[in-house]
Amino acid sequence: MRNKRQANYSYKFRLYPTKEQEQFLKRVIGSVRFVYNYMLARAKEEYRLVGKRWNVYEYKKLLPLLKEEHPFLKEVPSQSLQEAVFNLDRAFKNFFAGRSEFPSFKKKKHGGSFYLPQGWRIERVNQKWGLLYLPKLKEPVRVRLHRDIEGEIVSINVRLTPGGSFYLTVRVYKEIQKLKPVDRICAIDVGLKHFATICYLDGNVEKVENPKYLVKTEKRLAREQRKLSRKQKGSKNYEKQRLKVAKLHEKVKNQREDFLHKLSKRIVSENQAIVLEDLNVKGLLSGDLSKHIQDSSWRKFLQYLYYKAVWYGRDLIFADRFYPSSKTCHVCGYKNQSLRLIDREWVCPVCGSKHDRDINASKNLLLYGVAHLTSGRVGTTQAKACGDGSASGTALLPVYEASIVEAGSSCRKAGSPSIN
Ligand SMILES: [Zn+2]
Repeated sequence: MRNKRQANYSYKFRLYPTKEQEQFLKRVIGSVRFVYNYMLARAKEEYRLVGKRWNVYEYKKLLPLLKEEHPFLKEVPSQSLQEAVFNLDRAFKNFFAGRSEFPSFKKKKHGGSFYLPQGWRIERVNQKWGLLYLPKLKEPVRVRLHRDIEGEIVSINVRLTPGGSFYLTVRVYKEIQKLKPVDRICAIDVGLKHFATICYLDGNVEKVENPKYLVKTEKRLAREQRKLSRKQKGSKNYEKQRLKVAKLHEKVKNQREDFLHKLSKRIVSENQAIVLEDLNVKGLLSGDLSKHIQDSSWRKFLQYLYYKAVWYGRDLIFADRFYPSSKTCHVCGYKNQSLRLIDREWVCPVCGSKHDRDINASKNLLLYGVAHLTSGRVGTTQAKACGDGSASGTALLPVYEASIVEAGSSCRKAGSPSIN
């Protein structure tokens, strides 16, 4: 299987249920939450009373009894309920492995979701719309099918957001065709002033800004959040405003993901190798500039870049986090030790070059990448894909493995991206 790789892939579609269907979906999600919370409460109690440890199989066996006790659970696909127990199992495993906090009870206001491996189908009606048939639901739900589903279908997930919208995620397993190799390399620096600065070998520099529509929605969100903080908690107006804020949150999230997907796709398509600075977000966060730091956005951007590079056969080169890309003059190599985080521009005292902080950093990263490509000092490990375990066949360019941890740790998520 040269040139092709199997990968987990997911499609995300918006659902448009009728009022009646909405009630049904909410009942299923509510039942899943009920089972999760019931099992969690019981596990806590049994541990407290007799020191019994969590065991997923034993708790799963309780489901039929629980259904007898609470007949409304019989109206829900049983695999969705089982998945609630498995979800709790994952939460416990993460806790015992030190990866997360002790599992907490699920709250209605956070929305929720249910999972369904089979018993459903999607039918396309026209270019825009499709219908989702679910077990135990008479009429199919309208779904906005903005693209065709390709690959071997694994399962679906229906999610209710805190803002009250429903989304369908279809998980598939499909072959991804590698892109044709291109003769181009770029370096990316994520900065405070611009979302990113992309630098090319031919000297071209591209500054990528957050899109205006996103900035606008973010400002609106901040405004509505301030309004919420002034309202009496628990009042009707508070509840109304909370919903408004939740909806705006969702909009910001969708707009941001869309922007990051498009940007990462373009960069990966256009370049054979991409050099990045290992992010030292912690260091950046210690200053007053923390408010401006879009670290979550950058992290997501890195994840997208990473899995797309793996999928499409491109290379990511991570510059060591101690590599002084901002402080070094890219023309003569002088290190400006007195450069502060707030200095946006500086003049090199040795060669007199005038530097824009971000552009200079990008050019240095590019030089770093090229140097590592030609010297071969960093070994020839390809970016590994956790999901499919298949490294790309032809190691065109070396990858700095020691610092790939940041992207690697997010690789589990990278296996199931949501493509809008
Ligand atoms: Zn210089």
